Amino acid sequence: MRSDSARGELSPLKHFVVAKKRISDVFDQLLSYVKDTSEFVAETAGNKALENIASQDQKLEIQAYADKLAVIKEVLARRHMKVAFFGRTSNGKSSVVNAMLRDRVLPSGIGHTTNCFLSVEGTDDDKAYLKTEGSDEEKSIKTVNQLAHALHMDESLDSGCLVRVFWPKAKCALLRDDLVLVDSPGTDVTSQLDSWIDKFCLDADVFVLVANSESTLMNTEKHFFHKVNERLSKPNIFILNNRWDASANEPEYMEDVRKQHTDRCVNFLCEELRVVDRDQAPNRIFFVSAKEVLNSRMQRAQGMPETGGALAEGFQERLKEFQNFERRFEECISQSAVKTKFEQHTIRAKQITEKVKSIMDAVNIEAAEKRVAALEDREYQMDRLEFVRNQLNLLIDDIKKKIKAISEDVASKVSIAMGEEICRLHVIVDEFHSDFHPSPHVLKIYKSELLAHVEEGMGKNLAYRCSDAVYASVQTSQNYMIESMLPLLPSAVQSQVHMLVPSRKFDLSYDLNCATICSDFQENIEFQFSLGWTAIVHRFLGAANAQRALKLTAQPALALAPTPSSGPASTTAPPNKETALMTQEDLMVAMATNMASLTSRTSMSVVYRAVGWKLIALSASLYGLLYVYERLTWTTKAKERSLKRQFVDYASEKLQLIVSFTSANCSHQVQQEMATTFARLCQQVEQTEKELEAEIRQLTDKIDQLQSVQSRSKSLRHRATDLEKELEEFTNQYLQPQQ
Ligand code: GDP
Repeated sequence: MRSDSARGELSPLKHFVVAKKRISDVFDQLLSYVKDTSEFVAETAGNKALENIASQDQKLEIQAYADKLAVIKEVLARRHMKVAFFGRTSNGKSSVVNAMLRDRVLPSGIGHTTNCFLSVEGTDDDKAYLKTEGSDEEKSIKTVNQLAHALHMDESLDSGCLVRVFWPKAKCALLRDDLVLVDSPGTDVTSQLDSWIDKFCLDADVFVLVANSESTLMNTEKHFFHKVNERLSKPNIFILNNRWDASANEPEYMEDVRKQHTDRCVNFLCEELRVVDRDQAPNRIFFVSAKEVLNSRMQRAQGMPETGGALAEGFQERLKEFQNFERRFEECISQSAVKTKFEQHTIRAKQITEKVKSIMDAVNIEAAEKRVAALEDREYQMDRLEFVRNQLNLLIDDIKKKIKAISEDVASKVSIAMGEEICRLHVIVDEFHSDFHPSPHVLKIYKSELLAHVEEGMGKNLAYRCSDAVYASVQTSQNYMIESMLPLLPSAVQSQVHMLVPSRKFDLSYDLNCATICSDFQENIEFQFSLGWTAIVHRFLGAANAQRALKLTAQPALALAPTPSSGPASTTAPPNKETALMTQEDLMVAMATNMASLTSRTSMSVVYRAVGWKLIALSASLYGLLYVYERLTWTTKAKERSLKRQFVDYASEKLQLIVSFTSANCSHQVQQEMATTFARLCQQVEQTEKELEAEIRQLTDKIDQLQSVQSRSKSLRHRATDLEKELEEFTNQYLQPQQ
């Protein structure tokens, strides 16, 4: 048997207190968990790079869960067990409450002079106070009489209103365990049962009907519980048959009376209300004396010996029954309150956890899919970058060779064409017509026009011979370059690749610069008799020797006359003249050789003998005639022809000198053209490389972010599972029907 004074640590009410703490802890964790997920989802949904992984809807959904949980947490903190006492006036409701609280908290014996409900709940303050409905004012109460007086005097109190009495928890263990006790006005004094029930009964965990064992259960009392039963499913109802001490006066009837009361009560609970099974009914019906229990407990609390009622007959049994009632009541209320106060919230918590978990799953799956896609994408881009780099290296070599080949080809084409054009220079020169006059002024103009004509004509001819072919091969090579580099270009550029090639048609510039190279040209259009001394010398000695010979004749110091006979004497000449003499000697030898060759073919002496002086005369006259003829035919036209001839010879020689330079120049132009195009293409390929590198970097970032999203969603999911486990454990421990 539990000692009456040993109530405390093992109180079944602790079940509720512990459960409340436990579920509050779970809700704390759940709230912080949902806040974390809310933050995580908001972060993810707000990240542009991680599009569509978490949606705004999910963000709002989780936010709403967090708000909901915060509200539930608040509600849970205020949750308590509530027991309401009903019964007719003076049956001893206040006495029962006081007996349970072990103190005279509520006024008793004077009856409710108002129609107020009185609730007693714990406060952490060390002083008692009360609050009336509709006011936050804390009215302090020192004694129970003061309370009664206050209630009595307060005219503002409406019938059916609530007066909350706050009693120091320190003074009362029951109040420490979150129990609120509500004393009602007598069920016989009101007609407002429905509003009472709405206001005070819907959240009550246990109803205690305080009946008077000296009379039978009244219909007014029963009626009230019928109404409660209509509104609540299976309310927990205890029936206390109070004032059982009075039965001690008539012990002979006690058993019968008890049985009678018990049967009626069992019948009421099991048959009429159907709130409890018949076998459980004895646990709901007690025969007690609140007055005795209260007195005894108060005396004990004050350390006084038990007197009076405590020594009355049957007191110990009645006390024991009261304690029994208390234990059953505590068990019942804590079990019931845990279920009614926490079950719905636990279910809601599970639903929220489930929803958040499924959002984490969805985020995880989405992130995983996106990560795989990003990895594949990155792989592809890396392959592409490598391909572009390798391909570019190969192409650089290939295209360099191609450019070299084309340049060489152009050089040889131009050089051949120029060679041919030089041979045909006379045609161009012959085509030139302009005013010609041997006067220096006109000649100067004539020559500059001729040069311009040659420049233009030759340029045209060269262009005709080479340009088209060169242009075609340049274009073919450019197309080849573009085609081979096209796959390496950025896609945006691919469609506009023609923009990279110069839009003008490539044209070679031959730039012969005739005016400069022929600036030294000096014509000789003085009359020259074809059989004159100079011409003969020219004919027999060749151009080079003739010039030297003619120079000698022009110098008086070099006497030619003595030389033919001097012969070997010339060898004795002083050393400073040696060169000159040697030259004369060479000259004479050359002339003699030429003459000899002439005379060897036609022997002069034979001729002389055959034709004699007549022939000489004829020859002389022929010579003269020829001279006259040539003199007469040396017209302006002839001079022009001669100039042109001389010019052709001169220019051919000069042009020949610049063939290789010009062809190299052309080749350089082609090379330049191709290199420019190639450089532009390479620049674009570099752009491709840069773009690919940037894309790879971006993808790597994205992959990292996705990985972190994945691992965070995964760990958040694990936390959800842990919370689910805790909720499940809580359910199993506190919410499953007791065996
Ligand atoms: P209420 O109106 O239902 O709150 O009843 P009270 O608690 O005020 O009690 C009315 C009167 O009955 C008081 O004078 C109490 O002393 C008395 N009373 C209460 N309980 C008992 C009891 O168990 N035995 C006896 N003899 N008197 C009691």
